[in-house]
Amino acid sequence: MREMGSIVRFLLGITCAAVLGCTGQITDGGGTGDEQPGEVTLEITSPADGASFVRESVGSQGELVAALNLQVETSGPIAGLRVESASGADLGELSLAELNTIVELDVDGGHTLTVVAVDANGGAVATESVSVTVSAPAAASCHEWLDLYNLSYELGPTRQGVSDPVTVTTPINGIVHRYSANDTPRDTFFMDCSLALSLARAASHLRRRDIIELVDMGVYNYRCIGGGTPPDCPNGISQHAYAKGIDIAGFTTSDGEYYSVNDDWVIDPDSEPTCAAPTEAGKDEFLHELICDIKADGIWNIVLTPNFNAAHRNHFHVDLTTGSNFIESRANAPRRRRTAVGGVSVRRLHP
Ligand SMILES: [Zn+2]
Repeated sequence: MREMGSIVRFLLGITCAAVLGCTGQITDGGGTGDEQPGEVTLEITSPADGASFVRESVGSQGELVAALNLQVETSGPIAGLRVESASGADLGELSLAELNTIVELDVDGGHTLTVVAVDANGGAVATESVSVTVSAPAAASCHEWLDLYNLSYELGPTRQGVSDPVTVTTPINGIVHRYSANDTPRDTFFMDCSLALSLARAASHLRRRDIIELVDMGVYNYRCIGGGTPPDCPNGISQHAYAKGIDIAGFTTSDGEYYSVNDDWVIDPDSEPTCAAPTEAGKDEFLHELICDIKADGIWNIVLTPNFNAAHRNHFHVDLTTGSNFIESRANAPRRRRTAVGGVSVRRLHP
């Protein structure tokens, strides 16, 4: 689950350039000035109060963040430092050796960071705050967005229907991609630039859940919705014809566990919207929360799950249909029934 409020993470131990050095040793009067022994001073030397930052770095979970170098100078007898946000959330404890660290901010707007020096009992002995402003990046083109996410890609090759073709070297923002029929991952992945960007954005939702691999059933296929070859498409042209849709069969977490749309997604009743439906604990809940969080983040315009129809029993179809915003069950979803077993509601598919 996403943390509440400002999300701040510390990449601990990155550098050790604090004024007090790397040992964390502090002696009375050993600071920068001529304070009296026992007096504690605390100064935030970076970032400057009122400074502005753009979310143009890829953060530890694959999201775009403003990466602030937080530097603090202290003197006097302190036992540790802690950083708090304006909301009052305790964002973590820093040891004395971590007076120079990176703070990641992934929420736009104003932030107040407060550093508190504490004594051996955890009591505050000195406090200092800085206010900073974080804003979203403004890339001029899809290719620039891919660059922001540090994706490795080549332009092309030219394919019918694909307006901005790219061939991306995988992993994509930390996520391995594998075609479902293969045992080994893809080395490269052909798609429209806009779909590559959407996969880069989706990666943070996956990585927060410890997912390391996305298993797909394909992207580019120059075809109509329901089959046939464009332009004669009674039901419209598939987003796969534009390489702007991907069929997702499942996900693998770092412990080797596989979450299969076909085997683990429990189809919801027609009366329950996909993202409001009760779920079964375990993999069904995991898959529901994942795809609904991604949908809520606006990464894909259309998300079809096994709730949609029998043709989607074994995958999530997600795409970038312009002007669409859709995820829900449909009346033509496969029939299912609920069977009460020992007071527990169990759902089963008809064969
Ligand atoms: Zn599809």
